[in-house]
Amino acid sequence: EGPEIGSPARTAGILNKYHLRASKRFGQNFLIDLNVLRQIAELAAINQDDTVLEIGPGIGSLTEQLAKAAGQVVAYEIDKKLIPVLAETLAPYDNVKVINQDILKADFSVFHDAKSLKIVANLPYYITTPILFYLLGEKLAFKSITVMMQKEVAARLQAQVGSKEYGELSLAIQYRTDVTIRLQVPRSAFMPSPNVDSAVVMLTPKAGFKAFPYEKELFSLIKAAFAHRRKSLVNNLLFRYGKTDENRARIEQSLTDSGFNLSIRGERLTLENYEQLLLNLRKNAV
Ligand code: SAM
Repeated sequence: EGPEIGSPARTAGILNKYHLRASKRFGQNFLIDLNVLRQIAELAAINQDDTVLEIGPGIGSLTEQLAKAAGQVVAYEIDKKLIPVLAETLAPYDNVKVINQDILKADFSVFHDAKSLKIVANLPYYITTPILFYLLGEKLAFKSITVMMQKEVAARLQAQVGSKEYGELSLAIQYRTDVTIRLQVPRSAFMPSPNVDSAVVMLTPKAGFKAFPYEKELFSLIKAAFAHRRKSLVNNLLFRYGKTDENRARIEQSLTDSGFNLSIRGERLTLENYEQLLLNLRKNAV
């Protein structure tokens, strides 16, 4: 057996052999640091009971590390040029299935029978948040999501109330999952090396999660609350509901009922605070 796929020499050899150039359009930055590749698989704690859903296998570097530990790996790759490459590089692993499809169009019913589903990826960065929302929106019963992304996006996912990275994205993801940044990865670990540093983030389903009854309204309230970061929450909500005296009275009453100062800003409210505020806004509706 030759060296592992993710070694710099083997990666260069594969790209040469197939006359491949990393496609910018598809966000291709291949990992060439075997330590990082192994660490991702270790963080995800993959074992024989697991079915792993991988997004964007590329030339198979991470897939190989996952296949060594998992029961099964199902990998979605959008770039058809990579399909014959993957057929060759992953030939030694009979527990891998590659699907040539856009992950955002994938039908996840194939995973309904999986005993234990774990999602792992070195994500294409241009669609990091659409992918996360798609995975969460499809109501997949996953044990964990372990994914590499741009460091700044990772910070927003994990951000806590009051910090400058805290916002709509933090709240939307933390609504359903617990988020932790597990590993920082420098740009030099990739070929070609991107203009940003990266981090591996782990998301696990929130224990005892109960859907809020007015989910849509809640997230449109949160969106409005962060629309202009330097404005007060009252002013942001006036933009959203319309600048009338009635609306001002209703918004101010609801803030007071929720126990907040009228000059408070959106970044000071937790998810539970927003839920409370929404209930009060509904109660005080004119
Ligand atoms: N897993 C490989 C690695 O770690 O070296 C490649 C990671 S690269 C950052 C992202 C991969 O996602 C590329 O292979 C790219 O072609 C693929 N990709 C991009 N958009 C995709 C989409 N919408 N659906 C599925 N795969 C996609």
